[in-house]
Amino acid sequence: MKELHQQTRAAHPPIIRPTGGRPLTTPIYHGHLFAYEDGEALAAAFAEPAQESGYFYGRYGNPTVRTFERALADLEGGCDGLATGSGMAAIATVLMAMLRTGDHVIAQSSLYGGTYALLHDLADRWGLELTHVSGEDPEQVRAALRPRTRMLYLETITNPVTQVADLPALAAVARQAGVPVVVDNTLATPVLCRPLEHGADVVVHSATKYISGHSDAVAGAVVCADPQVHRRIWNQLLISGGTLDPTSAWLCTRGLATLHMRVRRQSENALFLARRLAEHPAVERVHYPGLESHPQHATARRLLDGGFGGLLSVDLVGGREAGRVFAESLRLVQLAVSLGGTKTMVMHPASTSHRELDADALAAAGIGAGTVRFAVGVEHPEDLWSDLEQALAKV
Ligand SMILES: *Cc1c(COP(=O)(O)O)cnc(C)c1O
Repeated sequence: MKELHQQTRAAHPPIIRPTGGRPLTTPIYHGHLFAYEDGEALAAAFAEPAQESGYFYGRYGNPTVRTFERALADLEGGCDGLATGSGMAAIATVLMAMLRTGDHVIAQSSLYGGTYALLHDLADRWGLELTHVSGEDPEQVRAALRPRTRMLYLETITNPVTQVADLPALAAVARQAGVPVVVDNTLATPVLCRPLEHGADVVVHSATKYISGHSDAVAGAVVCADPQVHRRIWNQLLISGGTLDPTSAWLCTRGLATLHMRVRRQSENALFLARRLAEHPAVERVHYPGLESHPQHATARRLLDGGFGGLLSVDLVGGREAGRVFAESLRLVQLAVSLGGTKTMVMHPASTSHRELDADALAAAGIGAGTVRFAVGVEHPEDLWSDLEQALAKV
């Protein structure tokens, strides 16, 4: 070929593949296109798309994203994983893949606000039938079953009142009826609980939280027990497009490396604070599965492995106004939504994450006007307690 012009050479820089040493992490493959030497191979990749081999276009597969998917699937004990652009993208993709108009879903009443809003939107506008159950009583699930029931949807630990669903008992009823079980395992993470071991078919995650773990990525994931279900959800992800970007996927994989240490430390810190808060006169009630007073403490002991999670909530004696003063008086603890990061955060669910719920739905989810939620981080527990104590003194 004739010598190329500068303009052309600039558009075709060299592509360096490492030689000698091999990289110890999958690089961030930003390029979403993969070129082929022969047309047949590209045609074959296109005709039989697979996540693993034959990369050709980023929405179908990317090695950096793939690394995260496989690593998380391994920790959850699933056959394979899918990464999505957010936790809500994971949930929406699973619902779209597994349900059609007229199908009936049984869902826990105390759900993440976005999930609750999505399910109710599907019910209002797309003809989904919906029944809520408490998450504790398998007989409620049995009573709710209908011929068109196509999903039982649960959360391992709910936000903000930390209800612990009795996964094995609830899943057993659904499985007996041939109804797939989907579990949002965001709050427990595979460190504390692997829902597939307790009868779930599909696990969803907001990897925005503990998995990426540093409040610097928005991401989601799906892990399935069965390859056919996995394939169906992947096909849905391809056409509805909730793909995860490679940089966020890389941050999620990096987060997994320290997930055990973080979740265990966050669980220890949360238990420490829960015990102290429970003794404080300004506190009416502490919601934390690690306390003997928690209504599902026994279930939590059975289900959770080596800790009770980093989320805890308190109802303050002074109600809404006390909650506001308290949250605004904290100095080290940050007033921010979300959870799962290294810094401890505080928020008021009734006015933020759960604002979609009306008074009845709030009550059903166990959220009071004065409920204040902590997403406990990895700081020294005594520093956290000092901050909480000085803020409690102001209410
Ligand atoms: C945050 C969260 C979601 C939604 O995840 P995004 O990444 O914000 O889309 C879903 N479920 C639970 C339990 C969550 O905490």
